[in-house]
Amino acid sequence: MKLSLVVPCYNEAENIAAFQDAVLSAFDGCGYDYEIVFVDDGSKDATLHNLKKLHAAQKFPVKVISFSRNFGKESAIYAGMEHAEGEYISLIDADLQQRPEIVLDMVKILDEKQECDVVAAYQDRRGEGKILSFFKKCFYGIINHLSDVNLHSDASDFRTFRRSVRDSLLELAEYHRFSKGLFAWVGYETTFIPYTACERHAGKTKWSFRKLMNYAIEGIIGFSTKPLRYSIYIGSFTAVAALIYLLWVIVEKLIWGIDIPGYATIIVLTLLLGSIQLFCIGIIGEYVGRTFEQSKDRPVYIAKEVLKSKDN
Ligand code: UDP
Ligand code: MG
Repeated sequence: MKLSLVVPCYNEAENIAAFQDAVLSAFDGCGYDYEIVFVDDGSKDATLHNLKKLHAAQKFPVKVISFSRNFGKESAIYAGMEHAEGEYISLIDADLQQRPEIVLDMVKILDEKQECDVVAAYQDRRGEGKILSFFKKCFYGIINHLSDVNLHSDASDFRTFRRSVRDSLLELAEYHRFSKGLFAWVGYETTFIPYTACERHAGKTKWSFRKLMNYAIEGIIGFSTKPLRYSIYIGSFTAVAALIYLLWVIVEKLIWGIDIPGYATIIVLTLLLGSIQLFCIGIIGEYVGRTFEQSKDRPVYIAKEVLKSKDN
């Protein structure tokens, strides 16, 4: 098997058939074996039903893994990689925003450049809203500053890579997964190619602003302990500022005999210091929470059903 397409699906019922057709027409006459590994991430619509139909028809090797509930895209990718048999593995969304034709180009690059292990597509920014663009830039600026890995600002999860990379990624069985960071962490020679994301074929994006914020925090906390260091800096800074203010108050009172109007100052400082403390405790809490989650050693996903391809 030359290539495995790993496709996470969450409520993508209307996209499944179209996705298979797009793959069939793109790979028609490509000259090598390939399979699709669909992962149904606990969908609430007819996704699993439609996947089973494809599996029964088996126009080419199709595997279906269905989760016992929604575990998230990262877990779906993990499960898909586990079941992938190809020499190359490709991660691609089910909504046809990422055209299967591009996978052909990625495979070609891997074939031609032996030294290259990963081909990652990054999104051509043209056509993206200014506000979203700004937030993304801020996020990558912060994460690259804070974390030990360096992320390409527009790189997506749309990638094709060699089996050795897949093996390394599977070794990182952490519960909180942040693919872009994991790819950067395992290293390997990566070639970036631009692509323009198409409109969704059907359905809605699963991302909300809240989910994006959580994703951003995941990325920062998962790959760096610098926020903890920064809370020490903030604490030291406020301590020094408080000391200077204290000296100033003493001088005012003892030398110039000025009465200190305290009420407003006390309220403001209490609130300010209280919020800084809460903020820092929150940061520590994030790390403690992750340690707790990981110490339970729960699996990344639970598969309810695994349908192997018919020739297996
Ligand atoms: N997805 C998933 N589990 C989730 C959310 C999303 O498997 O909990 C899948 C989804 O079906 C799609 C891919 O991840 O194939 C990307 O999701 P989406 O299109 O919503 O993200 P966007 O393209 O808007 O970034
Ligand atoms: Mg999408």
